[in-house]
Amino acid sequence: MPLSHPVIAIYPGSFDPLTRGHEDIARRTLRIADRLIIGVAHHATQTKRGLFSVEERVAVIREVFRDEERVEAVAFQGLLVDFAKELEARFIIRGLRAVSDFEYEFQMAQMNRELWDEVETLFLAPEVDYSFLSSSLVREVFSLGGDVSRFVSPQVLSRLQAMADG
Ligand code: ADP
Repeated sequence: MPLSHPVIAIYPGSFDPLTRGHEDIARRTLRIADRLIIGVAHHATQTKRGLFSVEERVAVIREVFRDEERVEAVAFQGLLVDFAKELEARFIIRGLRAVSDFEYEFQMAQMNRELWDEVETLFLAPEVDYSFLSSSLVREVFSLGGDVSRFVSPQVLSRLQAMADG
């Protein structure tokens, strides 16, 4: 692959918060892509506010991947395919944990292809230890006083703790 055409991939999601499962998928992507853009979606149509603001999610992802110059984190709004075109990214990365993820992911991949047929969605399986992990479960366990230190990086944990203390 000539250097003038780096392989750029986008990994979109809510990342509220980033978990070790997300990190695992991001690091695996670096085996096949030159650059990875982690896109934190603003859900303009969603009234429910998340745990962390989109800005905080982007900031913590940048902290976690500080030593990995091929990974960037950016917030985006609107259609994923428009964001992908803007960045000249032809690969969308999604993680597949279980069969239950499949139907929604498959529909979304087909729809994104309808919207822009030059984009390919790649599904990656995480390390088996993370195959049960989700941001919503981390939020729930943490809010009930459980230990989530095995499931998130220290940078995420300290923000969770700061939020609980504050
Ligand atoms: P979304 O709201 O788009 O599902 P998430 O932040 O929950 O956003 O997830 C982003 C992507 O990461 C999705 O493809 C999801 O399946 C994947 N993902 C989330 N947790 C894990 C995990 N533990 N292992 C592998 N993939 C994961």
